[in-house]
Amino acid sequence: MSESKRLFFALALPDEIQQQIIHWRAAHFPADTGRQIAAANLHLTLAFLGEVSPQKQRTLETLAGRIRQPGFTLNVDDAGQWLRSGVVWLGTRQPPRGLLQLASMLRAQAARSGCWQSPQPFHPHITLLRDASHAVPIPAPGFCWSFPVTEFMLVESQFLRGRTRYTPLQRWPLLPLEKQ
Ligand code: ATP
Ligand code: MG
Repeated sequence: MSESKRLFFALALPDEIQQQIIHWRAAHFPADTGRQIAAANLHLTLAFLGEVSPQKQRTLETLAGRIRQPGFTLNVDDAGQWLRSGVVWLGTRQPPRGLLQLASMLRAQAARSGCWQSPQPFHPHITLLRDASHAVPIPAPGFCWSFPVTEFMLVESQFLRGRTRYTPLQRWPLLPLEKQ
């Protein structure tokens, strides 16, 4: 019997931003464009961990709890499509240094703990649509959703009854936001 869980570190989005994003998606993409990610599942992955044993999970949680890193403001002001993976995404034109540092620490901790990490550079993004393997017009990003990021979380991903379900397992606060 395997007790391992499929885990990843991520940033949550405020509820009102999730709602604004799905309204924007509904206004700009036909309903049959790929597979729409549910509002509650919109997130930004910092480090993907894969299948993790309970022991390794504890190690990763201890390491994550040692991170002392200031919060930051995230400006969601970019959008695009990766044709190869069929992903339509939202992102940020200028990733804040705090975001890059946080992801880099979590990825390094994961690698040190034996979780395979992609050699690809970190591309911070929020997946909006999956299975969108034909090019779709991406509206010019005349929007900017901006919100403070004050914590990060460890999330379990489960595929149950045909749906991907994310369950936040633990959250860690970032240090008070740096003055801009
Ligand atoms: P589904 O695969 O059921 O369509 P999902 O991709 O959101 O949904 P997971 O595969 O569990 O669910 O992925 C959880 C998060 O980790 C997502 O943000 C996903 O993009 C990211 N992720 C998954 N696999 C990898 C990987 N090999 N490298 C980097 N990030 C990954
Ligand atoms: Mg997946």
